[in-house]
Amino acid sequence: MRKTFMGLLLASGGVGMAWAAGGAAVTTSMLEGASKNTAAVLSFGMGSEGQRYSPLAQINTANVGRLTPAWSFSFGGEKQRGQESQPLIHNGKMFVTASYSRIFAVDLKNGAKLWKYEHRLPDGIMPCCDVVNRGAALFDNLVIFGTLDAQLVALDQDTGKIVWKEKVDDYAAGYSMTAAPLIAKGLLLTGVSGGEFGIVGRVEARNPRTGELVWSRPMVEGHMGHKYDKDGNAIDNGITGTPNKSWPGDLWKTGGASTWMGGTYDPATGLAYFGTGNPAPWNSHLRPGDNLYSSSTVALDVTTGQIKWSYQNTPNDAWDFDGANEFVTFDMDGKRYGGKADRNGFFYVNDATTGKLQNAFPYVKKITWATGIDLQTGRPKYTADGRPGDPTKGEEGKKGKTVFAAPAFLGAKNQMPMAYSPQTKLFYVPANEWGMDIWNEPISYKKGGAYLGAGFTIRPLFDDYIGALRAVDPKTGKIAWEVKNTAPLWGGVMTTAGGLVFYGTPEGYLKALDAKSGKELWKFQTGSGVVAPPVTWQDGGVQYVAVVSGWGGAVPLWGGEVAKKVNFLEQGGSVWVFKLMK
Ligand code: CA
Repeated sequence: MRKTFMGLLLASGGVGMAWAAGGAAVTTSMLEGASKNTAAVLSFGMGSEGQRYSPLAQINTANVGRLTPAWSFSFGGEKQRGQESQPLIHNGKMFVTASYSRIFAVDLKNGAKLWKYEHRLPDGIMPCCDVVNRGAALFDNLVIFGTLDAQLVALDQDTGKIVWKEKVDDYAAGYSMTAAPLIAKGLLLTGVSGGEFGIVGRVEARNPRTGELVWSRPMVEGHMGHKYDKDGNAIDNGITGTPNKSWPGDLWKTGGASTWMGGTYDPATGLAYFGTGNPAPWNSHLRPGDNLYSSSTVALDVTTGQIKWSYQNTPNDAWDFDGANEFVTFDMDGKRYGGKADRNGFFYVNDATTGKLQNAFPYVKKITWATGIDLQTGRPKYTADGRPGDPTKGEEGKKGKTVFAAPAFLGAKNQMPMAYSPQTKLFYVPANEWGMDIWNEPISYKKGGAYLGAGFTIRPLFDDYIGALRAVDPKTGKIAWEVKNTAPLWGGVMTTAGGLVFYGTPEGYLKALDAKSGKELWKFQTGSGVVAPPVTWQDGGVQYVAVVSGWGGAVPLWGGEVAKKVNFLEQGGSVWVFKLMK
């Protein structure tokens, strides 16, 4: 069935355009073919697999120098801050979220505003890392997004009117939502943010038409999963793992493992993949053990919410190496794998069906906490003194021993999504080179309070650059090329059949590089820092590229010495659309 549908799409570029023109409701089969539909951008990741690859080649290495603005749209308002959103394109409209839980529908023809929804936020919201939002999901006639006070809002695509709204959890306990929701097999899958406040990470499935819960799967070992009957009553659906097997005492009750970046879904395996954040608190001496399923990739059966496999990137994480990064599925040697550029500095390749580790290698220059990943056991080879010291040993008064660790906790890669090109067979990874002084302190859980037990200062490693866009070969572990950037990279990447790689910089540029060589072919100054991923689509025979501009995110808030280096960058909030000059 799926093959026939894809075949049709490949045979005629007009099929996708017919959807766009006809205003058809977004269906499950459309979403499963989204990565091939060049007339729309129906999901985060430009297809739920997250490859961010477009088969479009009208804009290519020969002509990208003629790329020029078609229109720009301002998010307006006094409130700007970080704009990390990926726009969606469907039925003549762009749907784009903005800081402070706003969403706009914009006319694709000319950039005119069609409607705006501004979520009313309470005073006490607790987003850890700026008031960002990364995008929405489309299903049927709805556009659905998560808010900073941990609600889900579904709006009518044509009018912007609320169709349903559901509270996911208690913002006063530290829950929030910043990721784009994922639609898989007709279910709405969402995670939660809040790993710095001792929340319990989970994945929930809902009916996207109504918001009703279908199942819930906690990501901390020991918690009960649930499914829901027609009246919304919770029915036990199996404990996640074995209580107290990988967590001591009661710490699993506030164990973190937030699913703050959302997930990917591969129709080829039928599995959804969610990365999980740090175990809470950061002070690892309080929780000896692996602390499952924190800092892991977790593969879920979409229908039942059962864990099919998990792979832990950083067992007993002591550095806030959230394993929340996207797991991007791809074909290699006739098999289906997933690639993940983990915050901890290693790039992992796992079998997408079984989770078995196929390859793991560094994609940044300095990693202090481990010397490598054992491909037989799948476990890191920890360095002896890489972990911040135990505060109960009192080497520095109430503090434990300070260590210099790399990568810094903001990660070798953070929220900015990478891209994969089936054309070059390379991943394009927005990496950062930085380290941190980190120490542990005593801490106890208090609802709504920061639950770290750690202090830190981030420092650059090199004088001339922090960011580096790297072309990574998942098979050999080799870096094919790199392009350095003075400021830390914080926007995502897109690659196209035109042989191009697009990415943004905090310095304000959207750039296009040759995907084979990394040679810069084009750049445009957007007026504020770019910390969001670009998209592309075709309408009326013309290929367009869009990116959101607006500096912010975690770096200015948490970047320590690095934040001081980039404090001259100006905030903003707009979306830019480009096409080739005639
Ligand atoms: Ca974290």
